[in-house]
Amino acid sequence: MIVLLSVLNKAGWLSMVKRTHEMGKAGLSIPAVLKENKLLTPYRFFQAKRDWPQIIGKQIAKYSYIKDIDKNCVIIGVLNSIWMNQLFMYSQEIQKKLNDYIGEEFIHSVRFVRSGKKPAPVVYETLDGEEESDYPSGRIGDVVLSDDYVQTVRQETSHLPERIREKMAALRFAQEKRRLSMEEEGFRHCPRCGRWLARGETVCLFCRLEDRQHKKKLVHDLLIQMPWLSLDQFAHEIGAGRSDRLYIELYNEVRRDCIYKLIERIHYDSDTPEDDLFLALFITRKTPVELTDDHVRNLANRYRKKE
Ligand SMILES: [Zn+2]
Repeated sequence: MIVLLSVLNKAGWLSMVKRTHEMGKAGLSIPAVLKENKLLTPYRFFQAKRDWPQIIGKQIAKYSYIKDIDKNCVIIGVLNSIWMNQLFMYSQEIQKKLNDYIGEEFIHSVRFVRSGKKPAPVVYETLDGEEESDYPSGRIGDVVLSDDYVQTVRQETSHLPERIREKMAALRFAQEKRRLSMEEEGFRHCPRCGRWLARGETVCLFCRLEDRQHKKKLVHDLLIQMPWLSLDQFAHEIGAGRSDRLYIELYNEVRRDCIYKLIERIHYDSDTPEDDLFLALFITRKTPVELTDDHVRNLANRYRKKE
């Protein structure tokens, strides 16, 4: 932010560059600027998530939602298994409705996953969700606890009221049996937080997400200072290799988040002049000296709600 403002002051960006007249009239329903920058389809998909009940009908939307997109396959989360079959038969229709809404043949297939109210797995989870194969295959009930351990628990629970005592002891025994059987089968702990690791993991999901969140914040802070950075310039600034997939992903994700947030503000007329400038910088990837105030205003007006 500080960098940006100092650039603005130094350059007097209002009068620098000759106007470009290609922006056209305000209020077009298809944002040509997004299209030029290949952001239109992802943006429409983002909107589709929000407008799902409108697209598919309230009744169906009650039990389903757009969970994700994998290349050109849309993943529909279904809350209720009865609806899985129903929706499966309806998948052609869903694909068509989504493509109509998005405005091009963006979705090539539809996949359904049971999702939603499922409780979080207690022991561990992977990025793909819980996996049966990650549970200990032996029967936890068959594990025999050492006399020492049993005695220790008995002692530690002896001060509890009788009603709770037996239950607490049983809970501790079950917990220890699970721990032993997982260790027996080669499960390891996350070196950072101690949670159980899924097979093949070296650091647990939570710690990985924490890392990602931290990096995302760095990327966000940098792009807010210099929204015009191209991917190459960005990689250079942040010291990442050109093939660092996480940083490339975060670069695109942060840009998209920022652009959508700003467009939303403009759409509901709650934007400030700084918001409009930021949007122009993000979308065009021009520096403040290369943009005129007309350019900025015209661009913002494209996203205003039509009266
Ligand atoms: Zn961890």
